[in-house]
Amino acid sequence: MGAFNTFHLQAPCLVCGTEIPLVLQFKYAENWQYEYKLNDQLRWNSRYPRSNDGTPGMKHVVISAISEDCPVCKHDGDDYLIHVYNDILTSIEPDDQRYNFFEAQRDYFVLAE
Ligand SMILES: [Zn+2]
Repeated sequence: MGAFNTFHLQAPCLVCGTEIPLVLQFKYAENWQYEYKLNDQLRWNSRYPRSNDGTPGMKHVVISAISEDCPVCKHDGDDYLIHVYNDILTSIEPDDQRYNFFEAQRDYFVLAE
């Protein structure tokens, strides 16, 4: 799997509906186990660009993410989309599969440069 980052925010569990401290794993920007909250700015490694996924400063990027365990019902593994505007983690939504990350062989799409 390698290094990834996590995004922590309050959201309803998709299975039990309880408002939980949702944790999403994703790979974008510098992948180094960073723990982000809503409206945080992504961190990039300027010294070693190969440790980054993507390009800094894109206007709008959508990232594939996966949920960790719900603390109430223990459900995990739901697919989410994270929306990033100008490197700010702005919002999430359940992944409706409208982006084919598998075919693109990467975990993000740049929607606006
Ligand atoms: Zn749950």
